[in-house]
Amino acid sequence: MRDVRYLASDALEGRGTGTAGNDSAAAYIARRFSGLGLAPAFVSTDARVCTRIGNAAPCDSRFVQPFVARSVAAAHAGLQGELPTQNVAAVVRGSDPALRDEYVILGAHFDHLGRSAFGALDPDAVNAIHNGADDNASGTAAVIELARLLRRNPPKRSVMFVTFSGEELGLLGSQYFVDHPPVPLEKVGAMLNFDMVGRMQEDRLIVYGVATAQELNDIVAKANAAAPLRLTATGDGFGASDHSSFYAKNLPVLHFFTNVHEDYHKATDDVDKINALGIARVVALAERVTRAIADRPQPLTFVRAVAAAPSMSTRENTSAYLGSIPDMGATEVKGVRLTGVRAESPADKAGLKAGDVIVEFAGKPVNDLYAYTDALYAQSPGDTVDVVVLRGAERMTVKVTLGRRN
Ligand SMILES: [Zn+2]
Repeated sequence: MRDVRYLASDALEGRGTGTAGNDSAAAYIARRFSGLGLAPAFVSTDARVCTRIGNAAPCDSRFVQPFVARSVAAAHAGLQGELPTQNVAAVVRGSDPALRDEYVILGAHFDHLGRSAFGALDPDAVNAIHNGADDNASGTAAVIELARLLRRNPPKRSVMFVTFSGEELGLLGSQYFVDHPPVPLEKVGAMLNFDMVGRMQEDRLIVYGVATAQELNDIVAKANAAAPLRLTATGDGFGASDHSSFYAKNLPVLHFFTNVHEDYHKATDDVDKINALGIARVVALAERVTRAIADRPQPLTFVRAVAAAPSMSTRENTSAYLGSIPDMGATEVKGVRLTGVRAESPADKAGLKAGDVIVEFAGKPVNDLYAYTDALYAQSPGDTVDVVVLRGAERMTVKVTLGRRN
């Protein structure tokens, strides 16, 4: 919580890529890795980096990987198109001389929206600091804590801890990392991503990506047996976070996620709403998963396609896509209230908007998120369905042609 509190403090102004607050966060993470006794991940040194991330702290540039975040979308939105920034990474050496040249990567993005409205879902909050306590101080803190736990008792393979910048501008830090990896990617057995793990409710946790290696469903299920969470373990390796960059390089991935909520990408994503015990439980599960992967005699068996992937959940990752952002916080509402809709998504094109409450989907009543996902997953891309929503006092039916989930 000390890490979350610092990273999500107003002093860092929301850690926007290319800002002083983001650089301070990077320097802090490097200090934490160093203090925990981890080895720097990068060999090259660059004195200019130390100057940029400030002289207040001891600077070990080998923990940081400088890059220039180039975002056409950000430039289009009136931001600077080229932002100097950095990833931060460190290593715990494996205990087995025969396996320690292989790696498991644990990652999280540490950047957030800063004061920018780009990507924000509260356009009225002009110049407000978006602290991103859940997104993603929570995941960054989880990675630091996993570094502490794994450093105490290293597994057979080495573990690399990577915190990314530029995620909110389009996974730019993780893209740069996989294009300029400090170790060959053939030596990386898996990447576990922690993005938004700070809002656990009712013991629920989503683990995406279990279909990206043959063994992952079993590994996650066994790791969860000790102190069971209500897991939804499902899906392939593409999603709107940094694990996608690794999956695109044909690596098995997992994404730990306590789901979206009403403060997602808003200035109200603050530290007082963080479930600290929830983060600790995600960390405990992830430590067991990491050890299971890192101690295996054999590497995982990567799976590219996800047709009929085995899943602990009864819900398969089918590909129908609406583009709605459900409001997980609105539990008193019967139906599914939308926090927003993704730009250009089928939901957007059909005219659905933030605040709408979906009460019926393709002829099926929708009382909660579970009924909604069941109804959505029963459809196929290209299907046109009726969606009944409450908008204020009005009840309206809109026709939506579903897209394909990527
Ligand atoms: Zn995030």
